[in-house]
Amino acid sequence: MAALECVQFPYGSDNYGVLVHDKDSGQTACIDAGDALSALSALDTQGWTLSHLLITHHHGDHTAGLMDIKNSTGCTVIGPEALSAPIAGIDQHVSDNSEFEFANRTVKVLHTPGHTTDMMNFYFAEDNLVFTGDTLFSMGCGRLFEGDAAMMLNSINKLKALPDNTMVYCAHEYTATNARFALDVDPDNSALKTRAAEVTSLRKDGKATVPSLLGLERQTNPFLRTDNPELAASLSMSGADEVAIFAELRERRNQY
Ligand SMILES: [Zn+2]
Repeated sequence: MAALECVQFPYGSDNYGVLVHDKDSGQTACIDAGDALSALSALDTQGWTLSHLLITHHHGDHTAGLMDIKNSTGCTVIGPEALSAPIAGIDQHVSDNSEFEFANRTVKVLHTPGHTTDMMNFYFAEDNLVFTGDTLFSMGCGRLFEGDAAMMLNSINKLKALPDNTMVYCAHEYTATNARFALDVDPDNSALKTRAAEVTSLRKDGKATVPSLLGLERQTNPFLRTDNPELAASLSMSGADEVAIFAELRERRNQY
């Protein structure tokens, strides 16, 4: 089985979409549909035909181009059940632990509510790929628009349980700000210092900091380190439970 080819493309002010292509079957999936023009032009550049459109959640910067992409390509649209606002154009609704076939492999759906109630992430286990939408960012996590800290921590922990060599594709380039915040709350973390310096250099060159390996996120992302005693101590919350630490981190990041 050939490795899947991933092509990330930017749109909007800081969004990323991704094309996932399998050269054996010729199938191509696009993750999210915030901007039809960007997605269609990325397909055109690669010379790929879209077979599947995978939607993470209902927010407009992930869905605004859905009908245009569907009408232009005839792709099958897979996305969340209507747990938040309904999304027009979905052919196959998915929920936690749903599975579907893409390019002769099984894609598993992880429901990760918190940012929104309807958030679905797509895990390609055989290819060590996960598409985390606005749940897990590089060195950060999504804002809690529809859920609370306990719900989001539970969602983040589902992702944290994946293997270290899982490549994490998130939907926004928020990494530089996330790195500065992470250094504030986790100042003695040497892996974080190294990663923050890499991010500064990548951004200076106008390069993407996404995707990143889950193993690296585990070492550097404060929202994956709510069980770390040094991080808790730096928040003056030694011994506090992880939900309280997560809530404190999220609140501080909101104000950052
Ligand atoms: Zn969102």
